[in-house]
Amino acid sequence: MTAPAGSEAAKRRGAARSSAPDRVTATLSLDEPVGRVKLVSPGRAAALEKLGITTVRDLVNHYPRRYLDLSQVCTIAEAPIGSSCTLSATVHAAKLKRPRPRLSLTEITLVDGTGTLIVAMFRQPWLAEKLRPGMIVAVAGKVTFDYGFKRMINPFLDVLSEAEGAGGGAAPRKVEGSIVPVHGATEKVPVAIMRNMVGNALEMTQGMLDPLPLDVRCRYRLMSRGMALQCIQFPKTMDEVHQARRRLAYEELLFLELFMMQQARARTKGMLAAVHTVDGPHLRALAEALPFTLTDEQQRARDELLAVMGSPFAASHMLFGDVGTGKTVVAAHALAAAADSGGQALLMAPTEVLARQHEKSLSPLLDAAGVTHGVLTGSTAAAEREDLLERLASGELQVLIGTHALLEDAVRPARMTLAVIDEQQRFGVDQRERLLRKGEPAGLVADALFLTATPIPRSMALALFGSFTLSYLRHGPHDAANRTTKVLAKKDVGLAYDAARAQLEAGHQVYVVCPLIGKSAEERDGLAVGGGRQGDDEEELAFPCVAIESDDDLADDDITAATKEAAFLQAKVFADYEVGLLHGGMDAASKQDVMERFSRGEIDVLVATTVIEVGVDVPNATVMVIQDADRFGLAQLHQLRGRVGRGEAPGEVFLVSASQTEAALARLAAMERTDDGYELAAYDLSLRREGDIMGNRQSGAGVLRLVNVVRDGALIECAHADARAIMEADPELALPDHVALAREMRLLFKNDRVGAGG
Ligand code: ADP
Ligand code: MG
Repeated sequence: MTAPAGSEAAKRRGAARSSAPDRVTATLSLDEPVGRVKLVSPGRAAALEKLGITTVRDLVNHYPRRYLDLSQVCTIAEAPIGSSCTLSATVHAAKLKRPRPRLSLTEITLVDGTGTLIVAMFRQPWLAEKLRPGMIVAVAGKVTFDYGFKRMINPFLDVLSEAEGAGGGAAPRKVEGSIVPVHGATEKVPVAIMRNMVGNALEMTQGMLDPLPLDVRCRYRLMSRGMALQCIQFPKTMDEVHQARRRLAYEELLFLELFMMQQARARTKGMLAAVHTVDGPHLRALAEALPFTLTDEQQRARDELLAVMGSPFAASHMLFGDVGTGKTVVAAHALAAAADSGGQALLMAPTEVLARQHEKSLSPLLDAAGVTHGVLTGSTAAAEREDLLERLASGELQVLIGTHALLEDAVRPARMTLAVIDEQQRFGVDQRERLLRKGEPAGLVADALFLTATPIPRSMALALFGSFTLSYLRHGPHDAANRTTKVLAKKDVGLAYDAARAQLEAGHQVYVVCPLIGKSAEERDGLAVGGGRQGDDEEELAFPCVAIESDDDLADDDITAATKEAAFLQAKVFADYEVGLLHGGMDAASKQDVMERFSRGEIDVLVATTVIEVGVDVPNATVMVIQDADRFGLAQLHQLRGRVGRGEAPGEVFLVSASQTEAALARLAAMERTDDGYELAAYDLSLRREGDIMGNRQSGAGVLRLVNVVRDGALIECAHADARAIMEADPELALPDHVALAREMRLLFKNDRVGAGG
């Protein structure tokens, strides 16, 4: 026999009500080597290992890739010419032909009492031997009609029964009304064998304990685990597949959320969490000194942030906000709260330019709030550095802003209660942890605030950062509704220059962003959410780092391109204006100098590589021309265009591209269509496969096999809330209800390293 038929599945479910010792045995057998399963010979075990299947658990979790729904089968006579269908029929003959010397063709004649179907299978010569008259097979594919016969070319083909009425002691399989699962297989372990192995593994583990607490299962009407595995592996109906998937996906999520929360808890174990005063004099002075009223979203984000800072638990708060939405001023409240609590705060930014800019925009606010502050980067003069470090160690300095320079051992705050990390995705886990640990000498777990402009939709953020509290700023103070984006063919770049000139004449400034040569659009896309390295800043090279966008070929190419472009524009296009150049190959001081001159309006047109991607704020700049825009990821383009339309004046963005490919142009068109970073992110994600989305970014995320982080938002919210509740009630997972859960967690994550999350 090949697969357990529906009726057998039902029988198994009936048998699942077995006695307690059996349940324990069944549960334990999940973690036995896969070789214990019937049909798994040592040779096959080796083949399975290549698929990542080493235990019985792996095998029962090897979910079908697709299902053949034979309840929808038609007869050969009914098979509609020109469309696809699934049907089962008897093999009449199978012949190997060689139409050309190096091409094999197996021609299979199928009959079913209503007609004859000829199936052509190319390049599978072994089929001619394997398929013998009398076997029952299922085929799924498009029906054509040629030379007097209905035909299918390279359909999906599956052997349902070795021979009618005989074969291996198995009764002939009743096909109608059943669904055939199709598992990922290999040459050594073909589909039919794989299916039987999975069936046998399920049999071994029948009656396994369910790690989910009963109340959770009741709340969402979730199947038991055993039942869900049975239903996803050998469903009777497609609805069973959906129900099973829901249950198993929920379980994946609950485990992942619990795991992340436990990791976060491990960080604080045995230490006191910083508890912040959130209505002190510094904070009140800051509120009074604000030069503008906070938007509703900013107020909410501030309140959410202060709430977790004021709680007796170590806070990990993530503030999401598109560029220009005003995250800095929200962060300023956290800094003031730290000062109010007799603590100190370190604020780390990924580049020197950004650190200086934070200092610039925070200075007036912190001064008004009476908070002492300083800035430390790789280029801070020795004497000044000495002074800052001393004041930090004495506790006199309340806020220190800086770059990676803050990570050095010499940076020893007396009582750090808050760490703020800007553009957190640009730092590696190690770096973030290193900063957070600066509170340890004082016996404190510092609260952590992460700022990020990466527009990660909430459902995905929960899956990636389950232990964090989250706030969102979705709209900027001067909402960038007054920004337009236009895609231009390369030959029309003159239109962009005309628009730039018009703005220059009105006293505004212009960015021209240069392409990253040597990278295809695909390579770039693959990195929009995942890893990669950023090489913008000389200081970054010292540490491993995770970046939102890769810029690792700080390539000479780019520098040349930007240099040439600047020379060209200065000579030919904007001869009567000052053209400046900024690229990653310049030293920090020169970069700083160029940025400052651009800020002061001494430079009119700034030609740059993606150094300006993050955070740079010159409200007078109103036009951005991005050359070869198709070479950038959507997230990066959106980051870039965030540089204009920030002030009162409307912004104009021109995406120049020579690309002719439909996919590239469609992506650029999305930029034209929407200015909402979250909408773009969702669109971007919809273009990707699941693995690309989660990648290996987060330890533990590998457990998500069935979850789609874009579509399963509601399920993610539930699992997240439930995990929170469980952790609050029983942080050690020691209650009888949670024992199975705890064991399962240990087994699932035994190989995952501890990380601060993210
Ligand atoms: P980002 O989220 O990109 O870090 P910033 O914090 O740099 O954004 O803020 C962008 C600009 O908006 C800054 O010039 C800031 O002063 C200004 N800004 C922030 N909040 C408000 C507000 N509520 N009203 C007016 N301007 C604001
Ligand atoms: Mg910022």
